[in-house]
Amino acid sequence: MSQAATLYQLQTLDSEIDSIRQRLAEIGQLLEQNEAVRAAQTALEQSEEEHRRWQTRLTDLELERAHLKEETAAAEKRLYSGKITNPRELADLQGKVRELNQRYEDLEEPLIEAMLYVEESSQAMAEAEAALERVRAEQASATTALSDEQARLSDRLKELEAQVEQIRAQIEAEHLARYDKLRQRLKGGIAVVAVRNNGCGVCGVQLTSRLVQQIRHGQVLTCPTCGRILYIP
Ligand SMILES: [Zn+2]
Repeated sequence: MSQAATLYQLQTLDSEIDSIRQRLAEIGQLLEQNEAVRAAQTALEQSEEEHRRWQTRLTDLELERAHLKEETAAAEKRLYSGKITNPRELADLQGKVRELNQRYEDLEEPLIEAMLYVEESSQAMAEAEAALERVRAEQASATTALSDEQARLSDRLKELEAQVEQIRAQIEAEHLARYDKLRQRLKGGIAVVAVRNNGCGVCGVQLTSRLVQQIRHGQVLTCPTCGRILYIP
């Protein structure tokens, strides 16, 4: 095999290695991220907090009503005990009972509101829990698929690296040095390019027939425009 052909083979292997490394980096990031799970968790925490708030409000209102009821009962007991004879004092006590009853009634509306919100927030909480479970299951299956792909690609990478080592041993140091320099410098790491219709396969420039002939005869030459090593399959 000519040096150009061997260089082209090396390029093919290195390009596959590049894309595998890129994909492995992506997989690594995807496995670390669980944005969707975090978002669902936050949503659940918020709905739990909302539910707790309404539950507390409801309990407070119920306690307040119970307390008012007790106070009213005590005031009424005194009022009808026959022990109070002073008309002024009786009138005051009657006023107090009325006021307590009014306060009790005034709590009716907020109490109904709190009951409604307790129910509503409890439903929202159940929905958020179900959503979190769903997202977790999705994440788990995605993780399995990604881990499988990661293992497969890592195996392939090892194979390719071993092949690269063998191929590099067959290339002259001078060509190898040029190849490595070009790989570093050029976009996409493409240092060797196939000639297509007598033109450079990357930049497209037309090559002189003399240059094409030289390449055909196995010389390692570069594209006059983009500088890549040319190869004719
Ligand atoms: Zn070119």
